[in-house]
Amino acid sequence: MIIQLNPGISATERSEIIDVVHSFKYKTKEVNTQKGEYVIGIGKTDFDIRQIGTLDGIKDIHIVSDDFKLVSRKWKVQETEIDLGDGVKIGNGHFQTMAGPCSIEGEENINETIQHLKENGLKIMRGGVFKPRSSPYSFRGMGLDGLKMWYKAAKEAGIKIVTEVMQVSQIEEMYDYVDIYQVGARNTQNFNLLDELGKVDKPVMIKRGISGTIDELLQSAEYVFSGGNERLLLCERGIRTFEKASRNTFDINAIPILKEKSHLPVVADPSHGIGLRDHVEPVALASVVAGADAVIFETHCTPELAFSDGQQTLDFRESARLIKKMDELIQWRNKI
Ligand code: PEP
Ligand code: MN
Repeated sequence: MIIQLNPGISATERSEIIDVVHSFKYKTKEVNTQKGEYVIGIGKTDFDIRQIGTLDGIKDIHIVSDDFKLVSRKWKVQETEIDLGDGVKIGNGHFQTMAGPCSIEGEENINETIQHLKENGLKIMRGGVFKPRSSPYSFRGMGLDGLKMWYKAAKEAGIKIVTEVMQVSQIEEMYDYVDIYQVGARNTQNFNLLDELGKVDKPVMIKRGISGTIDELLQSAEYVFSGGNERLLLCERGIRTFEKASRNTFDINAIPILKEKSHLPVVADPSHGIGLRDHVEPVALASVVAGADAVIFETHCTPELAFSDGQQTLDFRESARLIKKMDELIQWRNKI
């Protein structure tokens, strides 16, 4: 059960609501975000909803039986819109493409990518500065200095930044330089990290775990929301299956299912989803048809020389072609 509280509710009204909910043998959790105040009722007993609905201080009350509640579409039919400022929005009918290298590599790499993005009308650049690598001997990223260098160039160009945060201690040091915090597939169930991101007033994009189910992704988002941050995006990036022909198995099903189950915007990552440069384009296009609110993919001036994930990275010519095709699909999607 989700009880939406009226803005400006008094302390007496609030405690009366909580007492009544407890009297039905429900446990409660209070959630305060930048957008609203909620009391979550956790329990299963039967009662007449009117016994709560008539109390003062309540804006609305919803019965949500899913384990995840605040991210569920069962109480919030309206899609969530993530507003990054300067007219850059994702979700609720706003589509964005985010692109950039797997890893931020240096000034030249930053500048040539920004120029490519600008030439193709993109507003958000991706890139990792703290890189979770399967081998400790692989390139581990440029760290905070790389992020600061990137931010300076991106800010001047009016480009927003989405980048991965790997641990709690990085949240604060990255804060001034990011527009969207990315939680990587290896950290989807790092609950300490999710809890702390709940306290931040910047959007968080949560990737699906490598072997994670759709419901587990939603539960991870529930952690952040219930911690106080409702500006969330869900990202399908492929899962590990028995199939070896591609790096991961991109779960196209996840897109309509996530959109049905949740009001949060859904992002598709075809680069990690298939892991094969030649096939990123069809998977990206399929994601748009399936209803994704955004696509994030890897691009580099010279993928063969990229510090990481070159095998799944588009060059700028391929990237420009994909962006154009996605634009056409969005126009078609808006019409049907
Ligand atoms: C990335 O986007 O750079 C990345 C490491 O992705 P994932 O967490 O999905 O593997
Ligand atoms: Mn990568």
